[in-house]
Amino acid sequence: MRKAGVVLAMVLLVAGCGAGCRESSDVHRRTQYLMGTVVTITVAGVGGDDADRAMNAAFEEIRRLEGILTFFSESSDLGRINAAAGERPVGVSAETIEVLTEARRISDASGGAFDATIGPLVSLWGFEVKERFVPPKEEIERARMLVDWRKMAVDPERRTVRLDRKGMKVDLGGIAKGYAADRAAEVLRQHGVSRALVAVAGDIRAIGEKSPGVPWHVGIQHPRDPGTVLGSLRIADRSVSTSGDYERYFIEDDVRYHHILDPATGRSAAASRSATVLAPTTILSDALSTAAFVLGPEKGIALVRSVPGAEAVIVDREGRVHVTPGLAGKVEGLAS
Ligand code: ADP
Ligand code: MG
Repeated sequence: MRKAGVVLAMVLLVAGCGAGCRESSDVHRRTQYLMGTVVTITVAGVGGDDADRAMNAAFEEIRRLEGILTFFSESSDLGRINAAAGERPVGVSAETIEVLTEARRISDASGGAFDATIGPLVSLWGFEVKERFVPPKEEIERARMLVDWRKMAVDPERRTVRLDRKGMKVDLGGIAKGYAADRAAEVLRQHGVSRALVAVAGDIRAIGEKSPGVPWHVGIQHPRDPGTVLGSLRIADRSVSTSGDYERYFIEDDVRYHHILDPATGRSAAASRSATVLAPTTILSDALSTAAFVLGPEKGIALVRSVPGAEAVIVDREGRVHVTPGLAGKVEGLAS
């Protein structure tokens, strides 16, 4: 519930339309619960019927991708890859090859801070279940030894994926929502839409501008003040993703345990409160925001600067805000 509230607050901010503001009648917005989260699509510049058709098809595409990429099904591509770990290569869809290839690229670039083979640690910590506790050290160590993107073989020709060791598990929680936002945006375009915003929770893709000369306005959630924004960005034909420690977490002995894990320690990454990344695609902004979050302000900003077209806003563990030079002065409302 809490997460949905936060996300809805964000979506309202995304609309750039506060109290007293009335949106023009050619802006259409719909929300569905998909991929375990709130997906909101906003379409502008087309009539209601066309907008409906386009949005239906886009939601359908996200539902289809969820079926392929979910961690929580034995018959999904991911379920089959994980079940065959240490045994054999598994034939998968082109979509899975595409996501895993991008995941490997970001793993390489981030020195493993982003690692799609994080599954054993995600399962151990169990941020999806209600009963939360810090697992014993030995179990964290055992799971950590199974996390290594270099032991995941992705073969685009044969369209197969193989995990080297039994017990390894791929989890795409840090990249699949971004990919889905890109694909949904593509579907909207195929339906003749040239102005839209697709928000899969905090992974957002903008198509065109909201109206001629008016970019989309996206708020960055304040990591410690639910429902308020840290600052906001204007985007057109671009993507933005935020990874934060404030959505799925518990606190024990004054330590905040949350769902973004540092593969180097097997524990929740502690260098940042949130990382927001702008990039040409959402698959990239999503994976980079997770990587930048884990790396923290110095290395995270350096990573994002090394990627063409990418920019970042990182809130460090003390609440200090770091931005890439390309964004200096461009985050609106940011207290300096
Ligand atoms: P959110 O899911 O809240 O949008 P992220 O995009 O940062 O946030 O993804 C976090 C999810 O990614 C976790 O729930 C988990 O499934 C997975 N994950 C956690 N740590 C890592 C990591 N170091 N590298 C790749 N994926 C991760
Ligand atoms: Mg991410």
